[in-house]
Amino acid sequence: MKNIRKIVVPIEIRALKTANIYKIEDSGILIDSGMSNRTIASLNDDGVKLDDLKMLVLTHLHIDHVGGAMALRRQYGMPIAMGKRDALTIQSMQDDPEGYWGRILSFLSDNGVPKSVVEHEREMFSDQRRVDVYAGLSIDRILKEENIDSNVSVIENPGHTMGSISILLRDSNAMFVGDHIISKITPNISSYTFENDMLGNYMDSLEKIKGMKPKIIFPGHREEIRAVGKRIDEIKAHHYSRLKEIEEICLDGWKSSYEVAGEMRWSRNRSMKAMNVMETTFAVGEAISHLVHLYNLERIDLKDSGKIVKWKTI
Ligand SMILES: [Zn+2]
Ligand SMILES: [Zn+2]
Repeated sequence: MKNIRKIVVPIEIRALKTANIYKIEDSGILIDSGMSNRTIASLNDDGVKLDDLKMLVLTHLHIDHVGGAMALRRQYGMPIAMGKRDALTIQSMQDDPEGYWGRILSFLSDNGVPKSVVEHEREMFSDQRRVDVYAGLSIDRILKEENIDSNVSVIENPGHTMGSISILLRDSNAMFVGDHIISKITPNISSYTFENDMLGNYMDSLEKIKGMKPKIIFPGHREEIRAVGKRIDEIKAHHYSRLKEIEEICLDGWKSSYEVAGEMRWSRNRSMKAMNVMETTFAVGEAISHLVHLYNLERIDLKDSGKIVKWKTI
């Protein structure tokens, strides 16, 4: 599509390797910013014109999408825009970073993650580059479901994060979805709180996008998706089988989320022991998002046994 420029930038996440940035030429909108300041060099190497940018839209708050944002704004001066719930999350990271990460760490402890792993998670969360990205990120415009210009609309699709948004080009029915829908790999749906049913939100958002019948989807990683309905059905089927798997794991007695994650099947047949700290955190978060969804569906019960939360199939 001649109005859309795709730029693939390297990122330092082993499982993904690259992230996609898109420029919508006649709107002057850049979608996402890669993981670091190096994004500008990648954009320049690709010969992307940047001095006509009117806005940088961030699909969601993950570091591989927001890490290059401030360097781009410093150099090219365009405002940074993002969905409301993610902007509020960033705000709370900035207001009280220790409190914010501390709450996640004690939540992981409450879910049975061993002390030694939580200590490694504490080190991961206090990684200076990560801290600097979020401390320095300022959002100039909050986007809700609205039209940005005569062709570009914002669609809210919570689930991958609570503030995830997509961008729709109405003339071509093309959608930029961030990490909401990706080809081949299933987007990680994690929860680090019991307050939101992330998976429930995510499944509703999948249905919402399916109902809009986009002709093509441009994801935050990997290649475009044309058979959108089929891909959405595959992702839903993956989560339905995950829910069933977890229900079966929790049949024979009360288990913590960490124990449940330890019994789940993971890609490439990895065991939890073979995962690094980030992968372990994602695995436990993914178990929790499914457990909370099962709890909301009244298929699983929860008890707070002393300090650790445990689950059992009803
Ligand atoms: Zn993401
Ligand atoms: Zn991503």
